[in-house]
Amino acid sequence: MAKIIFVTGGVVSSLGKGIASASIGALMESHGYKVSLMKLDPYINVDPGTMNPFQHGEVYVTADGAETDLDLGHYERFTNAKITRANNTTSGQIYFSVIQKEREGKYLGKTIQVVPHITDEIKSRIMAVTKKVDILICEIGGTVGDIESLPFLEAIRQIRLEQEQQDTVFIHLTLVPFIKAAGELKTKPTQHSVANLREIGIQPQILLCRTEKPLSTDMKEKIALFCNVKKNAVIEAIDTPFIYEIPIIYHKQNLDRIVLEYLNLPYHPHPALEKWYGIINTLRTAQDSVKIGVVGKYIKLQDSYKSIYEALVHGGIANRCRVEFVKVDSEQIEKEGAEKFLKDVDGVILPGGFGIRGVEGMITAIKYCRENKIPFFGICLGLQCAVIEFARNVCNICKAHSTEFAPDTPDPVICLLDEQKNITNLGGTMRLGCYPCEIEPKSIAFRAYRKRRIFERHRHRWEVNTKYAEVLRKHGLKFSGYSPDKKLVEIIEIESHPFFIATQFHPEFQSKPFACHPLFSSFILASLRNKSKSTI
Ligand code: GLN
Repeated sequence: MAKIIFVTGGVVSSLGKGIASASIGALMESHGYKVSLMKLDPYINVDPGTMNPFQHGEVYVTADGAETDLDLGHYERFTNAKITRANNTTSGQIYFSVIQKEREGKYLGKTIQVVPHITDEIKSRIMAVTKKVDILICEIGGTVGDIESLPFLEAIRQIRLEQEQQDTVFIHLTLVPFIKAAGELKTKPTQHSVANLREIGIQPQILLCRTEKPLSTDMKEKIALFCNVKKNAVIEAIDTPFIYEIPIIYHKQNLDRIVLEYLNLPYHPHPALEKWYGIINTLRTAQDSVKIGVVGKYIKLQDSYKSIYEALVHGGIANRCRVEFVKVDSEQIEKEGAEKFLKDVDGVILPGGFGIRGVEGMITAIKYCRENKIPFFGICLGLQCAVIEFARNVCNICKAHSTEFAPDTPDPVICLLDEQKNITNLGGTMRLGCYPCEIEPKSIAFRAYRKRRIFERHRHRWEVNTKYAEVLRKHGLKFSGYSPDKKLVEIIEIESHPFFIATQFHPEFQSKPFACHPLFSSFILASLRNKSKSTI
């Protein structure tokens, strides 16, 4: 059986359990182990696909088309694990399948209960992901003490009991807050949160303590004593501006050694951590910087465009520069115009989105970039708005629009395919997951990818209306990427512009710190060139 590392969280949410789990995965990989990562989400939604980005943050799309929690993005960025729909399970999915089995009579008339039926379903999903790997890192969403996560905690308690002791290890991520009035770090919330876990039968072996200030030896000893863990297993998880430093911060405190000891697995003396040191070195020493305008409607919540920001950072690493984000709410552009917000940026990215709010501001931003030759990178809704802008302002099709925003427009340059017109369910009904795309030679896209066929992830309903392809092309819009059957437009660009490209797919989901997505590295390079041009 594969070993399982369970990661729980205490005290407050948003401590970065996803990044902690991903970092542990990276460390285990650096010892040569094959890993997988999994997230159990306590909410009742079947998936986050229908949730508001303001509440839930980004919806991360896997290659097999699952709409999942954004932590799965961290898993893919930090490790080589193959992440699929099986790697994210919600209470909604668990209850859905238990109820379905009950309706089919599969429980032979028994009374269906949280224990054992719900917990059995949870356990079987966890066990399914342990196949074919050496170590599974399983993150439990929510905070210990929440009512909702109880069945998950009960299920992992049972797994520990059923397996050999050295097959599982429990890591608890907690907070050691600094109380300004007392001028001290406080361990009490951590003590209480571990007490909560122990009450339901879980004794964590390792504590990751989030803190803004270093933990003294005394403090670690106190936490160890009161939480019943070994002293060396109290790990300081200090704040850092670079998430890619976290595997190294943990390694320096021997977290990998401690975990492997608990799991009774060999510690390989030369962990391949150099690549992480390399990244941190680049981020810390980069002299140059670029300012990237991120124009969107979910700008206020950092998490809504998580993968976009990360991919831009990767673009910076690839070009040895820092990337500064200038976050612009497209509704503000609607009110005050683009110049005020975009005149000082070196490049503009326009990520995906749904619904009409802020769309006219996006179109105005695109016009500004096109006319002022500012590098522009549109993604999904970004492509659709770029087509609308070009149709209206270059081809003179004044009423051009998307039927998503103007169902009765006389010029639907963006529309639904016939087979999508009768869809009424909102969940899971989009073009989702990986699709092939064929790239035209002699294009920005080809220069970036250096490949004729690529595979990219999608999450959208609307498509470019190919009835308008001819007129758009005649005026200078290039269709540089198509689906292999030529029915769907995947990439557009403007040849007479230094860098103007937009994709119907989401390249940000495939970018990694060590392997920046080619479009993001080209975009940052173009923005750097634009910057140096304007400073000459
Ligand atoms: N709302 C658009 C569509 O559904 C774009 C979606 C997106 O940007 N992900 O087609």
